[in-house]
Amino acid sequence: MISVKGLVKYYGTMRGVDGVSFEVRAGEIYGLLGPNGAGKTTTLKIIAGLLKPTAGEVRVMGISPVKDPVAVKKLIGYVPEEVVLYDSLTVMEFFEFVASVRGLDQSVWSWINTLMKSFEIMQYMYTPIGALSQGTKQKVAIIAALMHKPKILILDEPLKGLDARSARIFKELMQLHIKNDGAILFSTHIMDIAESICTRIGIIYNGKILAEGSVEDLRRMANEPTGDLEEVFLALTREREEVSHIIEELRRELSR
Ligand code: ATP
Repeated sequence: MISVKGLVKYYGTMRGVDGVSFEVRAGEIYGLLGPNGAGKTTTLKIIAGLLKPTAGEVRVMGISPVKDPVAVKKLIGYVPEEVVLYDSLTVMEFFEFVASVRGLDQSVWSWINTLMKSFEIMQYMYTPIGALSQGTKQKVAIIAALMHKPKILILDEPLKGLDARSARIFKELMQLHIKNDGAILFSTHIMDIAESICTRIGIIYNGKILAEGSVEDLRRMANEPTGDLEEVFLALTREREEVSHIIEELRRELSR
């Protein structure tokens, strides 16, 4: 459902992504797992048609987001890392706005109400978005992305601001989505989240995919048959030695 080949993005002379290739199939939650600055957001924004690549080929259900970003936006639901909404609109006005831009009729309100109840935000229906907490804004952004029941979800660290209950509900929603033959591309730097949610993981580091596969596949590649994903990640990115040195230095400084 998503195909990325040799994706490169430069910001001026700064390298954002450096030859990334992967595919996401129906029924998959593909996790891009990488540290800060690895290129996750850049990759997701290009696939969502929000940023032009320097080179490479991207297809979303066969459509290029570079050539036809409007068609791609109809197929996907995108939740950005930094949620920026219209602060002066109430939650209801914002949903009305999104529904009209997407050309949805009144029947969408039954789905919106179910989502609002699930995420416990009914009481904010008439509150201006600017007065909401960051986590509640995140919930509003998630509902806006799910409103048109897209086949593909592109989620940039979507659990970051959510409380435990909402995170649980969102994870269940993700499972229902892929059981319905949808696909999810998901970015995170949190190992536990990647391990518990993703069917396949691509480890992205310095703008490149270093390894990909199930957690079991990655364990095998890293020669860490019993290690947790953190150990596997440190082995594959060859950061383990550097981390040990840093910890040693911290220990020395603290004992002075
Ligand atoms: P994080 O986990 O911190 O969100 P990320 O993996 O999403 O990181 P990106 O935001 O894609 O990483 O950034 C990849 C690289 O591109 C970084 O070196 C970053 O500094 C650079 N970069 C991203 N956006 C811009 C920009 N608008 N201008 C210049 N450089 C940028």
